[in-house]
Amino acid sequence: RAKEEGRGTVRFYDPEMDERVRERRALQSALHRALAQGEFRLDYQPVIDLATRRIAGAEALIRWQHPERGLLPPSAFIPLAEDSGFIREIGEWVLHEACTTAAAWPEPAAIAVNLSPLQFRDPKLATRVSDALASSRLAPGRLEVEIVESVMLDTDPVVEQTLRGLRAQGVRIALDDFGTGYSSLSYLRRFPFDKLKIDRSFIRDLGQTQDASAIILAIIGLAQRMNMVVTAEGVETTEQATLLSSFGCAQAQGYLFHRPMSSEAFSRLLAQNPPHPARPPAA
Ligand code: C2E
Ligand code: MG
Ligand code: MG
Ligand code: MG
Repeated sequence: RAKEEGRGTVRFYDPEMDERVRERRALQSALHRALAQGEFRLDYQPVIDLATRRIAGAEALIRWQHPERGLLPPSAFIPLAEDSGFIREIGEWVLHEACTTAAAWPEPAAIAVNLSPLQFRDPKLATRVSDALASSRLAPGRLEVEIVESVMLDTDPVVEQTLRGLRAQGVRIALDDFGTGYSSLSYLRRFPFDKLKIDRSFIRDLGQTQDASAIILAIIGLAQRMNMVVTAEGVETTEQATLLSSFGCAQAQGYLFHRPMSSEAFSRLLAQNPPHPARPPAA
């Protein structure tokens, strides 16, 4: 086998590998069908303003209502959709669906949409976003896009152009899962983000380890000096919420407040709880 490496590589027949490849192909075509048949849906997790405990908006989170396998979380299909590139089509649907839903919410409730790194490679992304805003009639200031740190490793100028194109429309830009990526922090100087979302792993250790508090305080201090809002992800206990409030963390999301819910449930929640205004995007 080693001798052939680099030319037409000879491998032993591996039935398990064969099975995996077939499974992946089946799932890929199922994804196409799912989009065509309307099997995807978005749930909405409220984002809480910690000082007032009012709802600032919600993050849209995709689910797949699979006809046989039931409700599937994003981890069950997003990585695969990213491999094949089909995430671009799914992402386009998410954008339109989220903007249309949020346009019906009372102002100024904001909507946060997760974008895949692949979507940032698309030179038309800023145009796609402005089309989604126009067709849904959602004010750009109520849309926030979430990107992961790894996007900033891409030195392709299209990424920065896209971010600036989004910002120019008045859309806010948040860094998701902050602290878990390959953060050299230097990219924070390359682009002025509006928000840092502290990853759940740090919040989980809050109150358990001193290090977690130190890291969170440092992130909040950094964000304040750079004029960014901080959102804590995955807040599950009152102790965590109290500590975060005392640290001056602006916003939180987590099961303590609300789990992700249907758009109908979120609308009902908003009807009983007038939303808190979001900060306008940085200049
Ligand atoms: P994320 O953007 O960091 O979203 C937060 C995840 O944490 C969500 O998981 C949410 O349900 C979960 N979560 C929120 N509060 C708590 C809590 O208190 N405790 C715990 N244990 N979990 C909490 P979910 O919905 O499974 O989404 C996972 C990831 O999938 C998201 O992480 C995001 O990266 C990705 N994703 C979701 N929707 C989309 C989408 O429309 N497009 C793309 N490209 N990715 C998406
Ligand atoms: Mg997110
Ligand atoms: Mg996150
Ligand atoms: Mg996360």
